Amino acid sequence: MYNSKMNTYMETLRQYNLKATPQRLAIIDIVNKHGHINIDTLYEEIKKQFNSISLATIYKNINTMTENQLLLEVKLPNSKSVYEVTKSRHAHLRCELCGDVQDLTIDSNSLFVDISNKYDFKINNTDVILSGICKDCQ
Ligand SMILES: [Zn+2]
Ligand SMILES: [Zn+2]
Repeated sequence: MYNSKMNTYMETLRQYNLKATPQRLAIIDIVNKHGHINIDTLYEEIKKQFNSISLATIYKNINTMTENQLLLEVKLPNSKSVYEVTKSRHAHLRCELCGDVQDLTIDSNSLFVDISNKYDFKINNTDVILSGICKDCQ
């Protein structure tokens, strides 16, 4: 049961001063596997392990882990937020048809520096979501 992955998650929770409850470990595991996941899908997945868990409990845990920056909420226009395990800052690609969200791994920092210089604009929020049609949906 306690494989090395679970130990890593427990260690991560400890780093963020959060108690490693079985529900939290399961949430991190599912979010990690999916990359980006919305609450509804997470709820469906976690019910396979904890069939009596409530949506409120999931929200509570997600909020705690988001506040502690273990998880990151990615806000999407006209759609429910997705959550991911916090990594370094990155932009996202979102498919308009299937809703799939992917990480954009180009270095956007140099672009922001250019914009900042060109417009003499101090950028505070660099959340970028590009929408379009993914490879599978084309
Ligand atoms: Zn798609
Ligand atoms: Zn991401």
